[in-house]
Amino acid sequence: MNLKSGYTSLSSPFELGLHKSGRRLTPQRKKVLDLFQSIGSGNHLSAEEVHGHLIQANSRVSLATIYRTLRLLVRMGFLHELELSEGGHRFELLSKDNPDHHHLVCINCGRTEEFESEEVVLAGKKAAENKGFKLIESTLNVRAICPGCI
Ligand SMILES: [Zn+2]
Ligand SMILES: [Zn+2]
Repeated sequence: MNLKSGYTSLSSPFELGLHKSGRRLTPQRKKVLDLFQSIGSGNHLSAEEVHGHLIQANSRVSLATIYRTLRLLVRMGFLHELELSEGGHRFELLSKDNPDHHHLVCINCGRTEEFESEEVVLAGKKAAENKGFKLIESTLNVRAICPGCI
């Protein structure tokens, strides 16, 4: 495997990550990553929304491909997947500026707000320590109904 092939610059950590794991940075994956990078962390998109953005940008890509790409990017550690029972799945950029944060999710319209709570992070940490688990993340998803939907 030639790790240098096809890459001219490796400025972005995302490209570095893709590089490291030996996956090809296909135009499709790059477009999806670029979208998340351009909207920044703290935004939560559904696969349908990602699809809509790409269609608007004249990319002919199927929703199924978007799903596959998103799942792959989650496995590779670039995106975080929020599983919301009623609202389906949403994806966000995993970022060092935005670690262990929590989500308040409207079960009706999917509106998602972030919040921070040291207590939740500590509770997760303590529980993991008590049981001898190695902590990966400690986040809370709160299901609720937003003011616009009440
Ligand atoms: Zn978030
Ligand atoms: Zn709502």
